[in-house]
Amino acid sequence: MENLKADNVYPWEGKAQTPAEGEFIRLNEDKTLSVPDKPIIPYIEGDGIGPEITPAMIHVVNAAVEKTYGDSKKIIWVEVLAGDKAEEKLGERLPQETLDFLKEAVVGIKGPLGTPVGKGVKSINSALRRAFDFYSAVRPVYWMGQPTPIPDPQRVDVVVFRENTDDVYAGIEFFSGTEEAKKVREFLIKEMGAKESGFPEDVGITVKPMSEFKTKRHVRKALRYALENNRKNVAVIGKGNIMKATEGAFINWAFEVAEEPEFKGKVITDPEAEPGDGQVKLVKVITDQMLMQLVLRPDAWDVIIAENLNGDYVSDLAAALIGGPGFVPSGNIGDGYALFESTHGTAWDIAGKGIANPLSITLSGAMMLEYLGWKEAAQNIYDAVRKTFEDRVGTPDIASGFQKQGIEAKAVSTIEYAKEIASRIN
Ligand code: NAD
Repeated sequence: MENLKADNVYPWEGKAQTPAEGEFIRLNEDKTLSVPDKPIIPYIEGDGIGPEITPAMIHVVNAAVEKTYGDSKKIIWVEVLAGDKAEEKLGERLPQETLDFLKEAVVGIKGPLGTPVGKGVKSINSALRRAFDFYSAVRPVYWMGQPTPIPDPQRVDVVVFRENTDDVYAGIEFFSGTEEAKKVREFLIKEMGAKESGFPEDVGITVKPMSEFKTKRHVRKALRYALENNRKNVAVIGKGNIMKATEGAFINWAFEVAEEPEFKGKVITDPEAEPGDGQVKLVKVITDQMLMQLVLRPDAWDVIIAENLNGDYVSDLAAALIGGPGFVPSGNIGDGYALFESTHGTAWDIAGKGIANPLSITLSGAMMLEYLGWKEAAQNIYDAVRKTFEDRVGTPDIASGFQKQGIEAKAVSTIEYAKEIASRIN
């Protein structure tokens, strides 16, 4: 694969490099960021197709920053290791030096990382989430002109805020037939009044914890986003009618946040009222209703606030509407700390062939620029990607999507596609 070299990219060499220029982003006490003109951004290349899509993203983001700001702003990219490459070079999949660098830099970006099955290896993605308390997974889903399975994809433009640290993610499981399951069952029947008919001897039990603190900080992040970006229609979802102590509580806590001084008068909750200037409306929607609505009238929603499991279903359905996860960016965001990433996996079946679609990580790069406050550069990436679709050029998966719809399209390699995007930035 062609290697795209740039003087502001510092690949890993024995250790994460100290770049000749650039400064670290500063995390202020109130958790806002002070972003210098030349921020140092660590990147994790990723496994599988990572070495192909990550340079493609860097190429596009560099072009956008340069064409938008000239010499006045520049990202200084420093490679840090995780996954297969880290194991090969340093003998561990998530080295401490990577964690230290990510902490110092505050904001970073990563390609997909695999979790070897059956080797007792823990997921690096989960470890990163825990290390930086990335409590909100943010996935904007919007259509840019790519082939899709639905006739009117322009109606999809929604940002899913999925809670990342609570619910079944933090849950504990007791498998049927184990001593632990037996103990928990006995406790529930003897001490907690559970009926034996609901807990026969062969039950397996999953505990689903949900906390007020974790819910509220996540909801605040989503409501702030809705207000700052004038996204009027906000839904909080859950099966509160069935799981009252958890998903019902999640919904109730969301409405309590709407009453906090920061949001009172700005977040309206009367389902019949229309939000005015500077206002957004928060309503509750049962999860299964939301799944139906996303298909039948997706334009009804701008922001969806979900706990962990529902957020998983909803974000994947929304992504499918606009062509799949390959077209969706993602940000893991905590109190200031943020790590942007592609939403798909390592795609080993196509790795090394130069045909991977780099859009998920490239749009994540644009999302990162927005997070830094460099909105014009991000917009220039969105506009350029749209133009590639108008001109019917893309990686083979994109071209064949068009061809299936009877539309002629040109297939190019991953890096060629990055160059096609960059050449359309003006
Ligand atoms: P996958 O996304 O890697 O692959 C599913 C299918 O989609 C494959 O046919 C693949 O070729 C195709 N595909 C995926 N991304 C593509 C792209 N950019 N362009 C063209 N085609 C693409 O999913 P999987 O096979 O379930 O997972 C493989 C590995 O990735 C697993 O180890 C899993 O844990 C990991 N994973 C990591 C992340 C992450 O780092 N955030 C996310 C999901 C899966």
